[in-house]
Amino acid sequence: MLKVGFIGWRGMVGSVLLQRMREESDFDGLESHFFSTSNAGGAPPPEAHHKTLLDAHDIETLKRFDVLVSCQGGDYTKRVFAPLRRDGWSGYWIDAASTLRMEKDAVLLLDPVNRPVIEAGLRDGVKSYIGSNCTVSCMLMGLAGLFQHDMVEWMTTMTYQAASGAGAAKMLELVKQMGRLAGKADATPGASTDALLAEQLVTAEQRHPDFPVAEIGAPLAGSLLAWIDSEVPGGQTREEWKGEAETNKIMGTKRTIPVDGICVRIGTMRCHSQGVCVKLRRDVPLDDIEGILRASNPWVRVIPNTKEATLKCLTPAAVSGTLNVPVGRVHKLRMGPEYLGAFTVGDQLLWGAAEPLRRFLGMLRDRS
Ligand code: NAP
Repeated sequence: MLKVGFIGWRGMVGSVLLQRMREESDFDGLESHFFSTSNAGGAPPPEAHHKTLLDAHDIETLKRFDVLVSCQGGDYTKRVFAPLRRDGWSGYWIDAASTLRMEKDAVLLLDPVNRPVIEAGLRDGVKSYIGSNCTVSCMLMGLAGLFQHDMVEWMTTMTYQAASGAGAAKMLELVKQMGRLAGKADATPGASTDALLAEQLVTAEQRHPDFPVAEIGAPLAGSLLAWIDSEVPGGQTREEWKGEAETNKIMGTKRTIPVDGICVRIGTMRCHSQGVCVKLRRDVPLDDIEGILRASNPWVRVIPNTKEATLKCLTPAAVSGTLNVPVGRVHKLRMGPEYLGAFTVGDQLLWGAAEPLRRFLGMLRDRS
């Protein structure tokens, strides 16, 4: 039986991973152990083989596992991965963090799109399997068909990313911010009937020195933040840099397809959405494009380009907690017949994080 260690299981990605594994009875056939960076000796979840949480920094303990699944974050990966391998550990490392994604001996996980690459990695003895960037994964779950048919000359992605993409603590702070704004308007006479008064109260509250911003760094409820992750040379953020780097690595493209845009954090709880402009390599009729998108994987939903269908199906409210990846607003842009506009929404905690990890762990279990 595969002996698997889970690190980071109580964070956003980790808790969604456990939830999905329970739904799919994935713990059957695994000997599961749970680690903590902050609470070794504490109580693990009910699936634990070992009845206390193990120390996630203890290399000797980590080395005893066939598979380690880390949803803990990049700093943790930086701290333990190299010492583990240096000490001769040759187990499978499955990780949600970005640290190892661009390493030559790491395979990116998004099996509905790149299963042959993952299978080749297993055949070739690759031992590091890394979840892809959440925005890229959600985009490719919707639009991979265009890449598979070599139709993309370049692509822009303008994103609308949920607070949960930044982790549990930021999400909890967003709820606190929402509560402060709604509470202020509720408690002020006249604010439920005077929209300008409501807006002025909300704006003043967002600017109040006591407004809770310790985690996010700025008001996000009722606002947006056009910067995600750190700066890289050339004016991009790291989140924007990943768009091209990871799309091309996942798809195994022969030439680098330019992918760029502006990544924006918005005050939604869950789901990353993005408006894309695709410069096609040739003019292809819309019906053919929709057919290609639809055939790409069983989770894509091509949404008719109507107001009714868009408001019903193409929103984080409709998609959160589901594996469906709707692609809508599909139409040719005014720039010419080779310019395609579209909008996608995907649950970044599922396809953008936990689900590819869960499915790969299942592949390992089935092989053991
Ligand atoms: P997270 O929610 O911040 O959790 C990471 C760890 O933080 C937890 O395992 C926990 O570790 C600790 N933690 C501190 N305060 C917490 C709280 N209030 N609730 C729960 N845990 C708390 O991070 P994450 O969003 O899951 O991301 C983990 C990794 O996956 C990151 O590298 C991230 O970049 C990547 N990723 C995230 C997403 C996403 O949508 N969130 C998508 C793709 C990839 P201990 O139990 O050891 O204290």
